[in-house]
Amino acid sequence: MSNQNLGLETQAIRTQLERTQYLEHSVPLYLTSSFIFEDAEDMRASFAEEKERNIYSRFSNPNTSEFVEKICQMEGAEDGYAFATGMAAVYSTFAALLNSGEHIVSASSVFGSTHTLFAKYFPRWNITTSYFDVNQPETIENYIQPNTKILYAESPTNPAVDILDLELLGKIAKKHNLILIVDNCFATPYIQNPIQFGADLVIHSATKLIDGQGRVLGGVTVGRSDLIREIYLFSRNTGPALSPFNAWVLSKSLETLPVRIEKHCENALKVAEFLENHPNVASVKYPFLKSHPQYEVAKKQMKLGGNIVAFEIKGGIESGRKFLDKIKLCSLSANLGDTRSIVTHPASTTHSKLTEEERLAVSITDGLVRVSVGLETVQDVINDLKQALE
Ligand SMILES: *Cc1c(COP(=O)(O)O)cnc(C)c1O
Repeated sequence: MSNQNLGLETQAIRTQLERTQYLEHSVPLYLTSSFIFEDAEDMRASFAEEKERNIYSRFSNPNTSEFVEKICQMEGAEDGYAFATGMAAVYSTFAALLNSGEHIVSASSVFGSTHTLFAKYFPRWNITTSYFDVNQPETIENYIQPNTKILYAESPTNPAVDILDLELLGKIAKKHNLILIVDNCFATPYIQNPIQFGADLVIHSATKLIDGQGRVLGGVTVGRSDLIREIYLFSRNTGPALSPFNAWVLSKSLETLPVRIEKHCENALKVAEFLENHPNVASVKYPFLKSHPQYEVAKKQMKLGGNIVAFEIKGGIESGRKFLDKIKLCSLSANLGDTRSIVTHPASTTHSKLTEEERLAVSITDGLVRVSVGLETVQDVINDLKQALE
């Protein structure tokens, strides 16, 4: 049965491997590093890729294949490959596609380790990166060079929750024959499908909302099958594969992704509305608040506003630190997209080593607080934020 015409919730649940002789209802866990061959001819044909089958779990495994197939269906992608972490997905995708001397044009605010990859490691192989301001996407073309191969962005961005117009990025990539790669981690495949707007590849850190319960690490890249083929060949030789156990956990998580995301977003909107009316809050950024500068773009490309709310606390760094100290219910953690609400104050923690100027270049103001709204009773989360803001 083809799942292409089914709803996204059904795709997340009903994509199923063939059943074993036990006719199990739930997909079993295939904890095996390798698979056996019938005879010499079977082994020859398998290695020659004349048949599609599992050989070794670094290449593929039934559990990772099932997980990848679900993500492909939900994102409208041709093919994909699953990784041990989101960063393994980011690194392997770039490393598989780029040659020495080539160039990336990236949004200025991207995930910290992705930025480190561009700024510190890729230059070793003569791969360079230019950055455009996420609030000035009209300047993107100024950064494109004859050797530019990839256009890269995240939307919504971390931690400032800025929105990039994916349709615009798709048009620019097409015009200049660039590969458009979008890290869709904050939106999840339920809220936003970048391929629809012209992305060639979509990356997820499955560690965040896809697992959604703070248990396992994982990553996945899906998109154009010719590009995925390169990424697959690179990865089957370099070894960043997702473990079958984590793939099994993540595939189970996908079954509840739509209902979880609905609730995360309902809670996040309530938290954003509460913060917008609080006297000690200077400003709030949430994609589905009318006050968001890119509200119209968010409405065009996102089904819901996501679970991340950013706000500016009055009083700068000192107020941010005090706010964290007074938090009781929410967690202080570097993760996000968990059932448990999490608050961070980047200027005094994750980004404290940067100068103010460097922080501002990645949209981190002194009073910026990021809330990853979880699935607790939302009034309890609001009460916690309220008492900490006093
Ligand atoms: C967390 C995150 C990553 C990295 O994922 P890991 O699973 O932690 O390696 C990449 N991109 C974004 C936007 C993230 O939030």
